[in-house]
Amino acid sequence: MFKFAIHEEPLINELVCCTSEKTEDVKGVPKSLQKKNTVIIPNLDETQVVRHFHRLSQMNFGIDTGMYPLGSCTMKYNPKICEYIASWEKFACTHPYQDMSTVQGNLQIMFELERMLCEIAGMDYFCLQPAAGAHGEFLGLLLTRAYHKYNGDNERNEVILPDTAHGTNPASASMAGYKTIEIPSTNQGTIDLNALEKTLSEKTACFMLTNPNTLGIFESDILEVQKMVHKSGALLYYDGANMNAIMGKTRPGDMGFDIIHLNLHKTFSTPHGGGGPGSGPVGIKMKLEKFLPIPRICKNNDDEYIFDYDASESIGKIKSFYGNFSVLLKTYVYILMMGGNGLCQASEIAVLNSNYMKKKILDSGKYEMPFKNLRKHEFVLSCEKLKQEKDIRAMDVAKRLLDNGLHPPTVYFPLIVKEALMIEPTESESKKDLDKYIETLVKIADEKPDVVKNAPVNTPTKRLDEVSATKNQILTWKMI
Ligand SMILES: *Cc1c(COP(=O)(O)O)cnc(C)c1O
Repeated sequence: MFKFAIHEEPLINELVCCTSEKTEDVKGVPKSLQKKNTVIIPNLDETQVVRHFHRLSQMNFGIDTGMYPLGSCTMKYNPKICEYIASWEKFACTHPYQDMSTVQGNLQIMFELERMLCEIAGMDYFCLQPAAGAHGEFLGLLLTRAYHKYNGDNERNEVILPDTAHGTNPASASMAGYKTIEIPSTNQGTIDLNALEKTLSEKTACFMLTNPNTLGIFESDILEVQKMVHKSGALLYYDGANMNAIMGKTRPGDMGFDIIHLNLHKTFSTPHGGGGPGSGPVGIKMKLEKFLPIPRICKNNDDEYIFDYDASESIGKIKSFYGNFSVLLKTYVYILMMGGNGLCQASEIAVLNSNYMKKKILDSGKYEMPFKNLRKHEFVLSCEKLKQEKDIRAMDVAKRLLDNGLHPPTVYFPLIVKEALMIEPTESESKKDLDKYIETLVKIADEKPDVVKNAPVNTPTKRLDEVSATKNQILTWKMI
């Protein structure tokens, strides 16, 4: 029976359920496996279902809706052709258990991608298995441990991090069994070489670093840092989440990093947010090769691509099969399409956009920016002045941006900036869109505190009680 209605409310309130009769004995299915209860299935016509999901999609905000300057996340526009190619049946329908001879193309893509990433990052080898940046960090630290153990250096149980580090860095280090030591940044927002010198010891396994760091500042003392770290016998780890700032300009390998991860879902064309599949390949220098996870993709004497499991010092496997292939494929297409010059240009425009926004916002005098002025692809503002003068906090500004149809920046990170707004416009945005964002931020700073503090009012959901949402999680929904 058709039910005719215009749904103003989410469809879920209008669910018409039909209960199926208890099924007759099904031939061949053992009684113990047959359903005992009736099944409740929503009974809806196609129009209702289409409208329901279409309405839900309209309540969402994505990079295809508008600017999404979520600092450190590189929410850039991802060309649709990458999605299109990843959806080709010949790729999408391959199965990890297929005979190797039938997936030579897939293996070739991964083999060549490893080499492309080596070239871009200045590393000797890459492992494509990790499913996210944090997973890459974890692998990097397992490699660190294997390396020191192999050298009989068993006392090294400390990982040093700057206070600007992303939260996943200390978390990964702890998961890998290390003690973490945080060192403070200088008043320029960079690594304090004296503090590093004092902290490095024969117990240091690794120093983890993001460059440019999470303030968007390039660590210009990096060559000095690498000398100090290596002199102490430790390894230098590069968190590559900010690769979008430096592609084609400089390479972590050339800066002296031993291990790096890249976030393909940030820099290399996979949409993310909402927990979609990611990829955090790990690049290493020659001295760590023998510890890499298995299988490795190689070419045999007959010029065929194979998975090689023969590695006695390998740390083993860290992901089922061989990573998230569709993400790797999109990266491969993106890199080929952009070419070396294209990638370099993407970084240049990302840095230009960020500095344009930074300058215009600071010129307004409404927001401040602690630490050194020179920034790369992102910058971190402080709403401390607004808080002191009008009791408007970073979170209030973020919520008010939603009322203006704009996605907020990252808030309250990095922790060393009070009332932080971390803005990363990426290379995707036009001057017009950057100007609109700047104008809106300036306008919000001039609004009455009540208006800003009660935002958002134009969104499907009003301000959420974030503490209750974390502490009192409701993770299932029951139909009846
Ligand atoms: C995103 C990010 C990570 C973690 O990457 P995931 O892919 O989210 O696990 C690590 N460090 C920095 C600086 C990041 O921005």
